[in-house]
Amino acid sequence: MKNFIIFFLIVMIICFATPNLFLKDIMAIESFDISTISFFELPEILKNKLGNNLDQSIGGGDSIYDNMQIEVNKLENKDKIKLLLKEENKVIELNFDDYIKGVLIGEMPVDYELEALKAQALVARSYSLYKLENSSSIHENADMCDDINCCQCYKTKEYAFASWDDEEELEKWLKVEEAVNATNNQYIAYEGEVIAAFFHANSAGNTEDVKFVWGGDEIPYLKSVISFENDFDQETKAFNKDDFEKLICEKNNNYDYENDVIKVVNNTPSGRVEAIQFGDVIIKATELRKLLGLKSTNFKFDKRENEIEFTTIGYGHGVGMSQVGANQMALDGKSYEEIIKHYYTDVEILKAEMIAEKNRVVYNGFHKKVKGRIYEINTCF
Ligand SMILES: [Zn+2]
Repeated sequence: MKNFIIFFLIVMIICFATPNLFLKDIMAIESFDISTISFFELPEILKNKLGNNLDQSIGGGDSIYDNMQIEVNKLENKDKIKLLLKEENKVIELNFDDYIKGVLIGEMPVDYELEALKAQALVARSYSLYKLENSSSIHENADMCDDINCCQCYKTKEYAFASWDDEEELEKWLKVEEAVNATNNQYIAYEGEVIAAFFHANSAGNTEDVKFVWGGDEIPYLKSVISFENDFDQETKAFNKDDFEKLICEKNNNYDYENDVIKVVNNTPSGRVEAIQFGDVIIKATELRKLLGLKSTNFKFDKRENEIEFTTIGYGHGVGMSQVGANQMALDGKSYEEIIKHYYTDVEILKAEMIAEKNRVVYNGFHKKVKGRIYEINTCF
């Protein structure tokens, strides 16, 4: 009887202790609160807290583990950014949000409303993340450059302080920091993916559908929308007959200023010119804009005997968020979320925690699998 009691106790100890050994690992995973991690801490934490467990429990060859590893690596690259300073031909490495602060200084007047600055910070972060994910090979040793025509403008804090009045500089810098910190870890997404957040200075009434600027497929979040702007660029640029003829001859060798007719072939629904005819050659308005250095494709012209004048309204390609429009919305009491959702159609603003949630889907899948295993082990007993 004594032996039987000892045997019974040993069996009971094995029955209860063994599952707990497994459960210990699972509970360690469950107690890990993924929602409290910042965007950039996530990869290390995932690796440290989950990587070993995943590896030991289900083996490195498991496809769920492989997916997780890809996700981890993708996020890991966004902690720091390598920035090419083109004029100095130098690559610097800096914290991602410090880079966004430099972009904000370079791309939007700090005098703008705080909500507009927050919207711009979110745009800059999204645009950068999009570029990092989709065109990482543009610069050989850097992720981005500081050229406005290639990536985004970037200015240092020192540059900003040197250009601001002494009595205002601290207040302005705090505003920049507030805009970036308030949108920390956030990005604009369409169907869960970060968007190509194009922006421009001002639109004079309507933004432009991306297909009229760069062609290609429709991009559902880059549609033309109304832009309420009380103040926008208006410019008149004159060309004398000979200079103009030379410029247009780059597109039409036979162009003759005196005898050839100039006429707008069609306008885009936003009111901008889409194509214009010079003699027997049709030129896209976006090409003409580049050729003549016009501020926008929203133009009218006045051809006289020896001179032609182009009058443009708005400034920039017109795609995505209008900065002046964003500022106007902010002045009208709109939040940065409302500004973003107005200029980018059907988007959502996601937080890093939601990226974490995305991982958690994988993580939960894995979780169920491990729980299933435990269940099997238990039934074996
Ligand atoms: Zn670049």
